[in-house]
Amino acid sequence: MKCPNCDAELELKKRDGVDMEICPSCQGMWLSCQELTQLEDEVFDFGDDEKGSLMLGSEPTARNCPQCAKPMRGFQYRLYDLEMDFCEDQHGYWLEADEDKRVLERMKEEEKNLGRKVLAEDRWAAHLKYLRSGSFLDRIRDLATVAMDPKPKPAF
Ligand SMILES: [Zn+2]
Ligand SMILES: [Zn+2]
Repeated sequence: MKCPNCDAELELKKRDGVDMEICPSCQGMWLSCQELTQLEDEVFDFGDDEKGSLMLGSEPTARNCPQCAKPMRGFQYRLYDLEMDFCEDQHGYWLEADEDKRVLERMKEEEKNLGRKVLAEDRWAAHLKYLRSGSFLDRIRDLATVAMDPKPKPAF
């Protein structure tokens, strides 16, 4: 598969404990959606605060799905202000370079403040897996028809 940004061939790599395709040139990340059976047994518990409103509406982006070449839509994963693209045909998600590092930094900061014992890396890996699961895909399907709020409310 080719990178939707720069056309370089994506490479299968493990990052933050999760298998994904990474662009060797711009370092963007492609998370293909998993077979439901692979994830069915996983339990995703992020606590009350993280389960609330996970995302806002979506809008078209300039990038195309590396799998089917259809234009992707961007959405904001409200938690940690993560901006991602997704394929409406549910092939996967695109993250720009270093978005994962930014989220990890924020998670670590949070843990320091709250004195939590959970490792940021584990939480982030769980989130990435959740994004590719059936329950998240169901939510994203509805989102494809909803336009992005022109004035998004602050996440906190
Ligand atoms: Zn690239
Ligand atoms: Zn696609």
